[in-house]
Amino acid sequence: MPSLQSVISCLSDYDPTALPVDHANRIIGEVVEPVRGIEQLPIRSALDRVLAEDIVSTIDVPAHDNSAMDGYAFQGAALAAAQTATVELEVIGSALAGGAGALAPTAVQAVRIMTGAVMPAGCDTVVPQEFVETVADGARIRFAADCVRIGDNRRLRGEDLARGQAALQAGRILQPADLGLLASLGVAEVRVRRRLRVAFFSTGDELRSIGEPLEPGCVYDSNRYTLHGMLRRMNVDLLDMGVVRDDPDSLEAAFRTACESADAVITSGGVSVGEADYTKQIMARLGDVTFWKIAMRPGRPMAFGRIQADGAGAHSALLFGLPGNPVAVMVTFYHFVRAALHRLMGATVPPLPLLRVRSAQSIRKKPGRTEYQRGILARAGDGEWEVRITGQQGSGVLRSMSEANCFIVLGHEQDSVKTGDAVEVMLFDGLV
Ligand code: AMP
Ligand code: MG
Repeated sequence: MPSLQSVISCLSDYDPTALPVDHANRIIGEVVEPVRGIEQLPIRSALDRVLAEDIVSTIDVPAHDNSAMDGYAFQGAALAAAQTATVELEVIGSALAGGAGALAPTAVQAVRIMTGAVMPAGCDTVVPQEFVETVADGARIRFAADCVRIGDNRRLRGEDLARGQAALQAGRILQPADLGLLASLGVAEVRVRRRLRVAFFSTGDELRSIGEPLEPGCVYDSNRYTLHGMLRRMNVDLLDMGVVRDDPDSLEAAFRTACESADAVITSGGVSVGEADYTKQIMARLGDVTFWKIAMRPGRPMAFGRIQADGAGAHSALLFGLPGNPVAVMVTFYHFVRAALHRLMGATVPPLPLLRVRSAQSIRKKPGRTEYQRGILARAGDGEWEVRITGQQGSGVLRSMSEANCFIVLGHEQDSVKTGDAVEVMLFDGLV
């Protein structure tokens, strides 16, 4: 794994006191490498896991040309050959799904066929049964020549996946459709990367845990709960280490324990310039850690690096020292930690789409930093999609995240937004 210093020293325009979001992500991307452990799992247990091998199809899916409809299979050439507007064919038997398809009709014959049944030899077209009139007790059928075209209602062998074609690539986080695809290939087990283990704790003397009395000047620790939720969604193993006081010995002990058992450590609080915050000193002492002021809002201060439990480096972990403010924790998690954890787990995840929609209001913004305002995207009276901000945007106002369904991403160079301008939004939730 390349050292942070070696990556940073290669950058010409590196400024840790006003680091653009993209630069920080580039540095993180270069430092983080995937964990090596791999395990083999039955496909059902592999949902949401990271595929560690390419899956190449060893069969054609479907394995035969087959019918997409219930109807009658015949040689499509009969349509062109028909002298009249009506085609009439002799029915010589039936083909059911699952059968091998032994029938071979001639140009003036047809086979009754069910959806999924193998196309009889020589047949390339299926006329759906609702277009067909049966005559002579079903011994013959009649239908209009223009109700189907040659090749209609036939699924081709290998049209879903041809033998030898890559079905899924290593790095994919397996989705419900992928489990089905694997099953359609007859694959019972796959090799996946081992799960990540992520430790996290909150720092700050003012923090109280739920159940404790809230003295004046104290707040309940909410960051461990949002972190729990965000990490659970990433399907990692969690090690919740509670609240750690702003005291050098407790902090050092917590960091060492975290390194010993986790691939990554996430802390919140103590990375700004607060007087009683020992967090930064301990982080710096335990490893290769850099302290950034990122050109963004919310979430300016952040620490990133790799720390070790002992001098030998036998137990080391990635470190993300996030700001203390509850919204800043979530924003920095989604815009830095998420991609880093994906990389650490060996996942290849395409960037989330940014959609351009109309802003329902003006938004003040200065160029020179990226802003992640919390937005509600909804359909306006005229049918167009429109976004507005969720009221108070302070970095401590967690309600702004809870009410929102998207980030309004105002880019580094972007200036103020006027009502009706197009802005970019990133949706919180997807379908699958
Ligand atoms: P800090 O980054 O430690 O200076 O904290 C910034 C602000 O976030 C302060 O108002 C803290 O009280 C608040 N804060 C820090 N950690 C938490 C937490 N775990 N839960 C809720 N608020 C917090
Ligand atoms: Mg603090």
